[in-house]
Amino acid sequence: MTGPDLPPAALRLGIDREALAHNWQALDAMSGSAPAGAAVKADGYGLGVDHVVPALSAAGAREFFVAHWSEVPALLRHVPADQISVLHGLRNAQEARFALATGVRPVLNSLEQVGHWIGAGGATCHLMVDSGINRLGLPMADLGDEAIARLEVDICMSHLASADEDSPKNAAQLAAFRSVSSSVRAKRYSLANSAGIALGTDYAFDLTRPGLSLYGGIARPELADRIKQVAWPQAAILQMRDLVAGDAVGYNALFTAAGPMRVATVAIGYADGFLRCRGPGSALHKDGLALPILGRVSMDMIVVDCTGCPEAREGDFLNVPFDLLRNAEASGLSQYELLTTLGKRFDTTN
Ligand SMILES: *Cc1c(COP(=O)(O)O)cnc(C)c1O
Repeated sequence: MTGPDLPPAALRLGIDREALAHNWQALDAMSGSAPAGAAVKADGYGLGVDHVVPALSAAGAREFFVAHWSEVPALLRHVPADQISVLHGLRNAQEARFALATGVRPVLNSLEQVGHWIGAGGATCHLMVDSGINRLGLPMADLGDEAIARLEVDICMSHLASADEDSPKNAAQLAAFRSVSSSVRAKRYSLANSAGIALGTDYAFDLTRPGLSLYGGIARPELADRIKQVAWPQAAILQMRDLVAGDAVGYNALFTAAGPMRVATVAIGYADGFLRCRGPGSALHKDGLALPILGRVSMDMIVVDCTGCPEAREGDFLNVPFDLLRNAEASGLSQYELLTTLGKRFDTTN
């Protein structure tokens, strides 16, 4: 692109690559003798494949999982095709041909998908077996099909439904997957996501597949003191304003000033993942000082109380809270949703 340089953005997302590498190493160590891979679907859980994949690769990750074929080109800029797996598998022959042409591995999830792969002359693939989540994966009843025996399976995997809870489902899925691993021939077996890693090395098999906790999510309490915050959003003040008693702030006038106060309008809104439910009871921060959010969150703006922070000026950047565990509890959103809704307007070139 030619033309004038774009001025600095009003939204910044600090990505702490050292924390990301630390988190991968911590999860890799907790996986015992099994190496940890990395789930990087949904643009690296919203933080940007171009930032997280090189950092995770440098830390030692060698298996990268995305959901869609549309996510593959971005990954191929950073890692070899045989380190990339597409979890949704194959919907048709065209996707099978794309997989073969690129060398990216499909995760086959049904006998129909196996048919697409064999029909295209498929080579090494991965296989997802459903051990109780009933979402995506080959039903265990189909494992005896002769087509399965014809596959050259690298990773035979399954996915835990309730690993973030102390549920009897975890042991049941572990037992089911043990029986799968004795009946399906594969080079490697893999069961655990982030929460599954924290359940212990019984769940690790030959490879683990963390996602959330790479990016700072606390998938189970056992991870709380081992995982570091990775994403640090900041937003600029657009305007300072003085209110008098009776002035109402924002759409639908949900906040009314009881007396004189000074407020700041800040350049972040629900289009940037700061969803409406994150407003009430929450605050932005400046130099450790909490600036409570007033009234409704708009698409591109929120208003905060700066009465206790007279030095705040237009143009100042405020810290947006992003402690995933605490923010999830306060908003009712999941830690996954907090990450993947961040939006595209942040400057991440830090
Ligand atoms: C998303 C995903 C993961 C990673 O899960 P987290 O809970 O984010 O650690 C692992 N395996 C599969 C099949 C997935 O879809």
